[in-house]
Amino acid sequence: MNQILGLRCTLCGAEYEAGGTRYVCSRHGDEGVLDVVYDYSAIQRQISPARLADNREHSIWRYLPLLPVDATEARRLAEGTILSTVGWTPLLAAPRLAAQLGLKQLWVKDDGRQPTASFKDRASAIALMRARESEFKTITTASTGNAAAALAGLCAAVGQPNVIFVPRTAPQVKIAQLLVFGSEVLLVDGTYDDAFELCLQAASEFGWYNRNTGYNPYMTEGKKTAAYEICEQLDWRVPHRIFIPVGDGCIIGGIHKGMHDLLAMGWIERMPKLMGVQAEGSAALVDAWERGLDAMQMRSIDAHTVADSICAGLPRDRIKALRAVRDSGGAFIRVSDKEIVAAIPTLARGCGVFAEPAAAAAYAGLVKAVEQGLIGADEHVVVLATGSGLKDAAAAIKSVRQPSVVAPELSEVRRKIKETASD
Ligand SMILES: *Cc1c(COP(=O)(O)O)cnc(C)c1O
Ligand SMILES: [Zn+2]
Repeated sequence: MNQILGLRCTLCGAEYEAGGTRYVCSRHGDEGVLDVVYDYSAIQRQISPARLADNREHSIWRYLPLLPVDATEARRLAEGTILSTVGWTPLLAAPRLAAQLGLKQLWVKDDGRQPTASFKDRASAIALMRARESEFKTITTASTGNAAAALAGLCAAVGQPNVIFVPRTAPQVKIAQLLVFGSEVLLVDGTYDDAFELCLQAASEFGWYNRNTGYNPYMTEGKKTAAYEICEQLDWRVPHRIFIPVGDGCIIGGIHKGMHDLLAMGWIERMPKLMGVQAEGSAALVDAWERGLDAMQMRSIDAHTVADSICAGLPRDRIKALRAVRDSGGAFIRVSDKEIVAAIPTLARGCGVFAEPAAAAAYAGLVKAVEQGLIGADEHVVVLATGSGLKDAAAAIKSVRQPSVVAPELSEVRRKIKETASD
């Protein structure tokens, strides 16, 4: 890992060595989230766009020199398992949706097609590698569902014990996914924020490796790989805007970090505008951004939304999330639950991507930004579809009309078809 120079506090700039159990700044405690700092000239000796063009590793591991893991160990552990299939999700052109919105170019990055069906596999893969390198016996995380499913699935692939804290109210399919993968699951009778606090305490009490978002600085490093992929899949032509659903803010912070790396190495020439989309009932970052508050001035709100993956009362990665939007000249946008649910079939019918509510929220945010005149007609736009619609069947069912029932007779079908045609 000679490419990492160290860790730096996002609040005070204090620097630390990148050791196994260093998570946050000593001076700032849980709030002092760290950045991982790289030696870009060392990295550039190992990787370049030209060399990537010949690389047949179609996963996040194609960017190994830019990742905080031991390359040999990572390759060995991933080989032949679902770990080797994390990342390099398709970037799909969506011309019909673009036309509906009056945009020239629109792509949807489909991270529902990760091994456990959400974007979180990118971060959990890094957590697993780092825990293995430091020989931790157990890994733990708190989660609204997907981060846990990602950790559970990837751990199952290599027989790694793990303990998961999820709010009791998480969608049933997500909880089932954890149990099926054989994780030790603790359903917390409280919110995600309660589950998070409990998990932090348990990790330090029992010496478990802590995967928590907005706490473990390496999660940003897993999530940044989507930024590399977007740019590489577009032949290094940077899109103008990327729409990203935001709960804790780790994904948007990760995309920002990834773009920052590419800029630092001179692989791209400008930072795309990062558009953070939150649900109206869980919009702590939109509020802070509109009111010009910094992360330390934010207070926990009572969050609720149909999009459980972006339900966060006090976003854990708020420092990086606000920085991402401010530095990139982007914006935060709020969308209602109704708009989120409506976006599920719109996105699915417009480009064939079936998204869970949080992922559909990114598209709802794009619709809103277009309505508000925030986007120029010649801009190139990417929407991050962060999770599969199969993750939350109940929400999907709410988003559509019930189908009609027919008797098993052709005449019935004829009658029905006529009816629909005259609708
Ligand atoms: C976790 C998650 C998000 C939000 O990511 P944050 O890093 O918490 O902002 C969005 N969509 C899906 C599907 C997720 O699982
Ligand atoms: Zn600090």
